[in-house]
Amino acid sequence: MENLIVANWKMNPSTKKEAEEILNEIKNGIGGGNSEVVVCPPFVYLSALESVRSDLTQLGAQDVFYEDKGAFTGEVSGLMLRDLGVEYVIIGHSERRKYFGETDEIVNKKIKKALEVGLKVIFCIGETAEERDAGKKNEVLEKQIKIGLDGINLAENGSPLVINIAYEPVWAIGTGNNCSVEETKESIDFIRKFVHPETRILYGGSVKSDNSASYIKEAGSNGLLVGGASLNAQEFVKIIKSAE
Ligand code: PEP
Repeated sequence: MENLIVANWKMNPSTKKEAEEILNEIKNGIGGGNSEVVVCPPFVYLSALESVRSDLTQLGAQDVFYEDKGAFTGEVSGLMLRDLGVEYVIIGHSERRKYFGETDEIVNKKIKKALEVGLKVIFCIGETAEERDAGKKNEVLEKQIKIGLDGINLAENGSPLVINIAYEPVWAIGTGNNCSVEETKESIDFIRKFVHPETRILYGGSVKSDNSASYIKEAGSNGLLVGGASLNAQEFVKIIKSAE
């Protein structure tokens, strides 16, 4: 199984030119590794970046709406994304849950729609610091997985690889406070009980090139979801190479 290394650029960079430059540098840096690399820029750059990317980099979106078309101002459908050449979509990122009120039920509708239109899913789950401190981590992860994947058979969607889980402890995202390898391994082992044996489980949360390899080689993850560090092409290329 190939590792999956995903760049989440969030609401960055501020210009199309910069976005093109970063992707170009990533593309030229990675060579023929053995990981699947997906870059998820803001929606508005997807079209331009489809012309920049090569076979070594696929495109992902950071969100998708659960209807195909109609009166949903500001939303973007999976059909639109597929039409632009987008292969993957991040669903349920903690920033969407926190700032945009995304519930497990909404996440479930989005995952179903993404699969229906042929998008591969990067489904984010993770506990907050308060939930962790209260000893509720596993309970939270189980609830997020069970509701998020309700009605979805992981073995029946073509291949289990169409749904990837990103374990992202919320307290580790963008804080520089990455989760320890031991704790990540415990959570990944816990998550594995609820998914298909071949489902890839990624780690995300303050990944940098000096900690990335340990999540793959010691914590047993099948890839990484990288936020801040993925905007620095050289650093992101180092992270990709560290997974090989
Ligand atoms: C993320 O955006 O999913 C993320 C993990 O961010 P960072 O790597 O910056 O913590």
